[in-house]
Amino acid sequence: MNQVILLSHRPKGLPQLTDFEFVKEEMPEMHPGEILLKTCYVSVDPYLRGRMNETKSYVPPFELHKPLRSGVIAEVVESNHDGFSQGDKVYGMLEWKEYQTSRGGGLYKVDEDSAPLSAYLGVLGMTGLTAFLGLSEIGKPKKGETVVVSGAAGAVGSVAGQIAKIQGCHVVGIAGSDEKCEMLISDFGFDVAINYKTTGHLRKAIAAACPGGVDVYFDNVGGDISDAVLVKINPFARIVVCGAISVYNVTSLPQSLSVQPFLVRNSALMQGFIVNDYQAKFPEAMKQLSRWLAEGRLKHAETMVEGFDQIPQAFLDLFEGKNKGKMVVKISEDQ
Ligand code: NDP
Repeated sequence: MNQVILLSHRPKGLPQLTDFEFVKEEMPEMHPGEILLKTCYVSVDPYLRGRMNETKSYVPPFELHKPLRSGVIAEVVESNHDGFSQGDKVYGMLEWKEYQTSRGGGLYKVDEDSAPLSAYLGVLGMTGLTAFLGLSEIGKPKKGETVVVSGAAGAVGSVAGQIAKIQGCHVVGIAGSDEKCEMLISDFGFDVAINYKTTGHLRKAIAAACPGGVDVYFDNVGGDISDAVLVKINPFARIVVCGAISVYNVTSLPQSLSVQPFLVRNSALMQGFIVNDYQAKFPEAMKQLSRWLAEGRLKHAETMVEGFDQIPQAFLDLFEGKNKGKMVVKISEDQ
């Protein structure tokens, strides 16, 4: 039998394990032109929370009592398709199933000789591309500028900060534990790291970390943390609004800073960003990320949990900050 995870309830506030349902179904049947895929690694991502709400967003909501889906690395175990052979490893937006069939649309072969397979869900996948393109298209950091990254120890943030360092910036990361802050400095080369949970006064800590003000803010979290950064922006600052995890589970509209005066006074740019809008630039971005990774200038961090039954919990753990780097669930051994 094949294991599948369905969305059983639309979460109210913080998602719970009871919002997910495990079911067993018959193994999928193969048809002409199809491939049979065995799931190897599943990506869990904060943006999936938005898709669990009924409201329409830039991606349609998940349907109740239907399988969830996210970025998956899978192995082709049988092929009736000219473009794929048994043993190929592919990336695609696939369902949370141990096995599934596909006609190949939206699947990309990944090269396991160049990088570990799970890297194609992180530094060489959607989150790495998000960091790269958010900076190159909106942040545009210049040598010597100060770049602040929130959610800095996560998948997107850790790559964004490292890229800003490669570009010669003074890089300040904001993260939720001393261990993460330590990692930002010792592993990823950030100049300063601030633990937003223990620093008594975030605005003062940011002012001390950014004596020349903030030129680029790569925002993964929104809320109070971002308010504390926004009051320190410099003239012509660029704010990459990548995500707002601090408010993904709120049930009433949060009170926040009125940002307009800060933007006007500083002729600053604040721009929302969705990585899929830049698909034409993915090959070029991938090439650069792969080069930096091969040169050792970019480090790939991940938190890997094992087991198909752990997918929902790994997703919930993102909201508790339990991951360092990309949160990935390993389902089956690489061949
Ligand atoms: P992460 O790997 O950063 O994981 C989430 C992290 O968020 C946690 O580890 C935790 O770290 C932090 N966090 C959780 N709750 C809060 C909170 N209340 N306040 C502050 N921080 C919190 O996830 P990703 O790198 O995958 O995603 C980062 C952001 O980028 C998300 O907002 C996501 O939605 C967004 N995103 C946007 C994309 C786009 O195209 N615009 C594409 C991909 C991601 P800590 O311990 O530091 O609190």
